[in-house]
Amino acid sequence: MIPLLEQTLAELRDWFVAHGLPGYRAGQVWKWLLQKRAASFDEMTDLPAELRQQLHEQFQIWTTHVAEHRTAGDGTEKLLLELHDGERVECVLLRDDKQHCTVCISTQVGCAMGCAFCATGIEGCVRNLVSGEILEEMLQLQRLLGANERLSHVVVMGMGEPLLNLDALLPALAVATGRDGLNISVRRITISTVGLPAGIGRLARDNCQYHLAVSLHAAADALRNELVPANRGFGVAAILAAADEYFELTGRRVTFEYVLLAGVNDQPEHARQLAHLLRGRPALINVIPYNPVPGLPYRRPLPAATAQFVDILARAGLNVNIRHRKGDRIGAACGQLRRGEGRDAPDCNSGN
Ligand code: SAH
Ligand code: SF4
Repeated sequence: MIPLLEQTLAELRDWFVAHGLPGYRAGQVWKWLLQKRAASFDEMTDLPAELRQQLHEQFQIWTTHVAEHRTAGDGTEKLLLELHDGERVECVLLRDDKQHCTVCISTQVGCAMGCAFCATGIEGCVRNLVSGEILEEMLQLQRLLGANERLSHVVVMGMGEPLLNLDALLPALAVATGRDGLNISVRRITISTVGLPAGIGRLARDNCQYHLAVSLHAAADALRNELVPANRGFGVAAILAAADEYFELTGRRVTFEYVLLAGVNDQPEHARQLAHLLRGRPALINVIPYNPVPGLPYRRPLPAATAQFVDILARAGLNVNIRHRKGDRIGAACGQLRRGEGRDAPDCNSGN
């Protein structure tokens, strides 16, 4: 069986032509899957029954199944998808009052970066997702939408380090942004990275126009090395240089994410260091109060500490937001649902 979502539309067309079928039929199948939200060939009613049967025998549309589906009162829905090899990844649908429907997707099973506070990193990286699996996350979530809703944003902020799997991510995003695909504007796609200078450089030179978010969490190398061990290989200065290049080549402002950990990186001196580091850059800062992870020693700061941290940045003239949180009680920070934790903790920090 050929996994259908691993094919590009051009490859699908080639398959049709090679089998003596009209190429435009491939476009019809594509449209049914991506735009008309079909779940099976049977639903593709403008295809001859014989062709539907042939496709059913040759192609597999879904390689994942929904192992768990949680819904929160605020419209957030979270899926735990089981992959063909029994591994599991999480993805989330977030709705807001501006009619935005955002999907938060994973790129790897686990993560090798080992950030000290993150549930996904605890057991390392099992494997990369293939592009069809990444696309399937979006389609599984799209199927949860009502008839009047459409996917408007994608945030690559689920499990894994996206810049270590760009060869699978970029083709999946090309379908997400394609006119024949999900037709989501490139400017509404955010890739969040732990900050790998080589990967940021590749995205900058591709000039793909995606919104880049760099997870900084500390301005000084000593503290960042502790929280984000991957930092030891290159340091904050190299990340900032890559982020500057990204802005220069794409014209897109970079967002810096800063997860606030009580007593660790949330003190006024940390805010001042961050303000000093980013001063003069056309950057946005998203401050994210930590979602506690069972078994890890970190805590969420009190609201007053968060407010003080943000205030210092704002007074230094920086553009700063507190990332608003959704979907309480349907699974904790990304990576926890897969580990069977966090039933009553707040949701994945993804926002839009
Ligand atoms: N690997 C990428 C993308 C996935 S993590 C990255 O690190 O950017 C997405 C964001 O969630 C990152 O900013 C990460 O630091 C943050 N995060 C991870 N665990 C968290 C938690 N328990 N609470 C709040 N944010 C968390
Ligand atoms: Fe990986 Fe991102 Fe978690 Fe760090 S925060 S371990 S890079 S998923």
